[in-house]
Amino acid sequence: MRGFFYGFSVKETFLLNDFLTNRDTSNILNSVWLFWLAAEHLSGYGGEKMMTKAFKLTYGTMFNPPEELHSRFDEALEAVKKELGKEHGMILDGQERFAAEKFEDRSPANTNLVLGLFQKGGIQDANDAIAAAKRAFPGWSRTKWQERVSLIRKAAELIDQRIYEMGAIVALEVGKNRMEALGDVAETADLFRYACSQMEANEGYVVEMGRDPIAGYVSVNRSVLRPYGVWLVISPFNFPGALTGGPAAAALVTGNTVVIKPASDTPWTARLIMECLRDAGLPAGVCNYVTGSGSTLGQALIDHPEVGGITFTGSYEVGMKIYRDFAKGPWVRPTILELGGKNPAIVSRHADLEEAAVGIVRSAFGLQGQKCSACSRVFIEAPVYDALVERLVELTRKLVIGDPVERAVNLGPVINRNSYRDYQNFAEELSQAGRILTGGKVLAEGAFARGFFCEPTLVADVPLSHRLWKQEMFVPITTVARVKDLEEAMRFANEVNYGLTAGFYGTPEEAEWFFDHIEAGVNYANRPQGATTGAWPGFQPFGGWKGSGSSGKNAGGVYYLPLYMHEQIRTIVRKA
Ligand code: NAP
Ligand code: MG
Repeated sequence: MRGFFYGFSVKETFLLNDFLTNRDTSNILNSVWLFWLAAEHLSGYGGEKMMTKAFKLTYGTMFNPPEELHSRFDEALEAVKKELGKEHGMILDGQERFAAEKFEDRSPANTNLVLGLFQKGGIQDANDAIAAAKRAFPGWSRTKWQERVSLIRKAAELIDQRIYEMGAIVALEVGKNRMEALGDVAETADLFRYACSQMEANEGYVVEMGRDPIAGYVSVNRSVLRPYGVWLVISPFNFPGALTGGPAAAALVTGNTVVIKPASDTPWTARLIMECLRDAGLPAGVCNYVTGSGSTLGQALIDHPEVGGITFTGSYEVGMKIYRDFAKGPWVRPTILELGGKNPAIVSRHADLEEAAVGIVRSAFGLQGQKCSACSRVFIEAPVYDALVERLVELTRKLVIGDPVERAVNLGPVINRNSYRDYQNFAEELSQAGRILTGGKVLAEGAFARGFFCEPTLVADVPLSHRLWKQEMFVPITTVARVKDLEEAMRFANEVNYGLTAGFYGTPEEAEWFFDHIEAGVNYANRPQGATTGAWPGFQPFGGWKGSGSSGKNAGGVYYLPLYMHEQIRTIVRKA
């Protein structure tokens, strides 16, 4: 079996392979893992035999990709490279819209590479996009939900058809390695389908209630969930596919009309999602896509009185500001916030240390530590501390940093100059406060000179009172600590404002104790596929507690779609 991780045994290669496909909200791992178990059962380690026939990109094929995946990705990449530097409009009311000012979208792996030219939309574009969505709302909200479902499903199919092209663009634009890039796109299509299947499973959210026992009358009561109106989707750079497409699909399938504002680092991927929705045949104005800066265009959208609800995914700071600004309207509107994390892994003295090491490394450094679910803190019981730390360092040193489109690469660059500086400042501060076990430096020589490449970094001996135990860093740095027992680990784990994901390694009984005590929305025990990362719609719905999220319900789960609708009771009476 060819692995991505040279110098590894077959098992290590396999285990680390899905590190590649690991996303937070976008980890393919669980389903991949299930598939792998089946494959292993049937044909021994690797399950290569299962991959040889007609092949479609699914979670099953992603963990141990067949040659065809690579050749198709390489072909798509070549084709995409011929299209670089073009100008892309906004899409507003079904029309391409151009602004007077433009901004360049450059690759974080090579800042000389201009991927495309995008529109610097302003206040007028914000107003026009919301007006278009408002005009489209009556027609769309009254469209039969079955028809909305079939359009969103069609859009998912279009994503599937363009997956290699889109994956190549994600890799170039975000700096994700190829498997993670394809994973982001595949998950987007699955989020679309999951929203559709929830609509169907709940029969459009129409529920027959009790009949009033009034003599001489028949009184029929129905509960109907109905859309709010214009829904705003503001998305971050790190999962520009899934975190733009997932909320948009949920809003659309439930009958809202949508305005999308992607991160300025990743406008292209979001545009591709928009194109698939448009090409599926959504009527003009039902979904709109505007680009430009968060502080001007984004703020104008937030401040607009005609917005009915919002899904914001991004940092705690911006999210809390949006929450407060959005509260200035004349009534309370739904505000779905998916924010940052400071995700802990706790390792018991009874843990399988190899599985813990693999899971932690994968979650710490997948996507260069820029997942909201990245494992950024590790608490290890004293008796196994030295052994585990040694293995963590060993595995981390084997990770390959480089151009993310290259097949053998695990870690690409961080997203932009700010993150690159953050990394250097944090590494410096932590080297003073504690001891860098591995990494700690940026790579700036030769091929790395024009990109934002940072070594994956493990730090020990940082006092637990240090501020960086509590602050999300969002770069490939993870701190490890020795604890005397699990109680102490849990206390530290919960002593943060965040509560997104968490991981545990130990006995099944300890795992239950962990689930009962941890304050986080998505939790994993004994999982080598990722200590804290690896959610997938329909498997691990994704959302956070405390400062990590506002709704208390997770995306890609059974309680998600109702967030996009308000309840209406319909009582109709007739004489008996
Ligand atoms: P960010 O800086 O907060 O930006 C997120 C989005 O908000 C971008 O589209 C940004 O536009 C926009 N924005 C900025 N200021 C705004 C304003 N005043 N009004 C309206 N919109 C505004 O986050 P990021 O750096 O892209 O993403 C990383 C963060 O997202 C991390 O904290 C991570 O943990 C979090 N995240 C959370 C989840 C989750 O599911 N919980 C998932 C992924 C990421 P510009 O790009 O134009 O500034
Ligand atoms: Mg940003």
